[in-house]
Amino acid sequence: MAARMALDSYLQMLLRPADFKDYGPNGLQVEGVPEVHHIVSGVTASLAFIDAAIATGADTLLVHHGLFWRGQDGRLTGWLRQRVARLMAHDINLYAYHLPLDAHAELGNNAQLGQHLGLVADSRFGDQALGFVGPAGPHTTAEGLAAAVARTLARRPTLVPGDGRPLQRVAWCSGGAQGYFEGAIAAGADAFITGEISEPQTHLARETGVAFLACGHHATERYGAPAVAAALAAEFGLQHHFIDVENPA
Ligand SMILES: [Zn+2]
Repeated sequence: MAARMALDSYLQMLLRPADFKDYGPNGLQVEGVPEVHHIVSGVTASLAFIDAAIATGADTLLVHHGLFWRGQDGRLTGWLRQRVARLMAHDINLYAYHLPLDAHAELGNNAQLGQHLGLVADSRFGDQALGFVGPAGPHTTAEGLAAAVARTLARRPTLVPGDGRPLQRVAWCSGGAQGYFEGAIAAGADAFITGEISEPQTHLARETGVAFLACGHHATERYGAPAVAAALAAEFGLQHHFIDVENPA
C-alpha cells in the first residue's frame, strides 16, 4: 500500500512531465482513493479498459493515452462523461503520461519497443528528442526487420521497402510519429519504424531509399505503461498487472 501523494512525487521524478510540451495534462487526471493498493496499466483509458480494470479490483490506472486532449472543449458529455463517471463511481485514480512515457530512456515506449526488437539507441532525434536511432543490430534487411516486427508484436507491419540497401542504422518512434520520418532520414537511418503511415511517407521512402515500417499505433505503445507501473509496484510494494484491450490500429 502507498499514499497516492508518494506515487505522485515518484512519477514526477521518474518521468519529468514539466520538461515536455504536450497535447494534454500529464500526471493525475482523475483523483480517486488516497491509498493505492492495486495498479492496472494499459495503453488507453477507453471505457473497455476502465471496465476491465474495475473487474480486477484496481484502484489506480496508469495509461499512455489519457482523457483530456488539446482541442476538446472541456464538456463532460457523451463518451467522455461515461469514462469519467465510471472512474469516479469506483473512486479510481487515473494517471496518464503521454510524451514523457514515450521518451523515458529505459522504461518509455521507445526504449521498451527497441528492447523487444533487439535495438539500442545511441542517439536521439526530432521534436523533443522523441526519436530513437541506433545500430541495426540483428536486422540486416528491411524485409527481415519487418518479419521480426511481425513476430514480436504479433501484427504484420505495412512495409514500404527502401532501395534494398543493407541496414546499418534503424530509427524508431512509437505511435503516430510518421511525421518524424524526415528527421529519421536526416539522422542517417536506413529504416524507420513507427505506428502509423500517411500517404506522403510512401513517396519519401521510395525517393530516399529509406524503408518505412508502420507497425501499429497501439502495438508499438504497449510496453511503456506496464514498465513504468511495474517500477512503481516494485518501489511501493503494490499489486500490478497490464490489461491489453485489442486494437487493430
Ligand atoms: Zn500514442
